[in-house]
Amino acid sequence: MSRTLQVTVLGATGSIGLSTLDVVARHPQRYSLFALTGFSRMPELRQLCLQHKPRFAVVADDSAAAALQRELSEAGLATEVLAGEQGLCAVAGHPDVDVVMAAIVGAAGLRPTLAAVQAGKRVLLANKEALVMSGALFMRTLADSQALLLPIDSEHNAIFQCLPRGDRAKPESLGVRRILLTASGGPFRQLPVDQLAAVTPDQACAHPNWSMGRKISVDSAGMMNKGLELIEACWLFDARPDQVEVVIHPQSVIHSMVDYVDGSVLAQLGNPDMRTPIAHALAWPERIDSGVSPLDLMRIGRLDFEEPDAVRFPCLRLAREAAQSCGTAPAMLNAANEVAVAAFLDGRIRFTDIASVISEVLEREATMPATCLDDILAADARARGLASRWVLERQR
Ligand code: NAD
Ligand code: MG
Repeated sequence: MSRTLQVTVLGATGSIGLSTLDVVARHPQRYSLFALTGFSRMPELRQLCLQHKPRFAVVADDSAAAALQRELSEAGLATEVLAGEQGLCAVAGHPDVDVVMAAIVGAAGLRPTLAAVQAGKRVLLANKEALVMSGALFMRTLADSQALLLPIDSEHNAIFQCLPRGDRAKPESLGVRRILLTASGGPFRQLPVDQLAAVTPDQACAHPNWSMGRKISVDSAGMMNKGLELIEACWLFDARPDQVEVVIHPQSVIHSMVDYVDGSVLAQLGNPDMRTPIAHALAWPERIDSGVSPLDLMRIGRLDFEEPDAVRFPCLRLAREAAQSCGTAPAMLNAANEVAVAAFLDGRIRFTDIASVISEVLEREATMPATCLDDILAADARARGLASRWVLERQR
């Protein structure tokens, strides 16, 4: 093999970021770390820099950058520390970079992810919120660049693997009848509905199958994660919302399926470990070891399926409606959700208030065309304002 591929990991201190570093470190002959970014947890980022010796590190602001720069230089490292969104975009679009893992959580990842797409990188997309917010713009930017977009979300990575290789065409032209998006149902799948209002952040973050960051864990508990994934699937696979069906599959062994017109249903299976989709996307179309243990079907024994409960999981309907109305609606849905989830994690609102906040914002703000980044950011800001006000009023 020729030179190693240079990898930027946006969100290196997070759950996906750390799994990415684990896979990359297994293949030093293939990959080198070009940049690591982190927003909080500075001691961890410092440790990761000492271990992986990237050319750049990016942190939240100038003072954090100065502190980390001093520590790394004292330790004899040549790593250059940058700050803020500008720094993130610089390491995402740098001419020497080949691969960008987009694993910042939430809207904060939008510009850096777009910078990687614009610069024609192999973009490994974990940051679903970026695509949900900016769908049409994102896909247009992709079409205009030489970038290769590979989904990291386990469901979308599974769908990608079950579709004809590398094709991005309308499902019907590929003989696809439906995309079956699987969902675990999260920690509250069987909790009596009248107890949902009293659940704590820690209960919501205790996912039965996956270990993830706190925001996506709360999203999963209320199935907003599946709602965001429905929108994500529509953009990634050029599908209409009615071509994507959500199926609850509590074991999280099947990561999603594609149903073809001839009656074939293709599925991708594996242990619930994000290193599988990460390794797949890093090496595609080749295959590399991910460190994930082989699937033991005898131990798993059975695979179950059920329909999602619309009363228990109102966020799923809200997301489907936003997908259908298109324009700025998905960006507003995402923004309201980010505000509501943060408020829930801070103990300021109840779990069941999350759906109420989002619903209120979407009722008040009409969807508008989302033709450019400014349209999207303006809708995001309006929705955040409304959602924050709702949270404040509820606290009184
Ligand atoms: P996490 O909270 O563990 O990590 C988030 C990362 O983003 C951290 O490195 C953090 O420092 C950084 N970050 C947070 N706020 C930032 C800001 N304002 N500016 C710059 N950086 C910021 O989250 P995670 O679970 O790793 O998820 C990351 C993304 O991947 C999310 O979009 C999530 O939906 C998606 N995803 C995660 C999983 C999973 O298993 N964890 C699975 C599928 C998709
Ligand atoms: Mg997922």
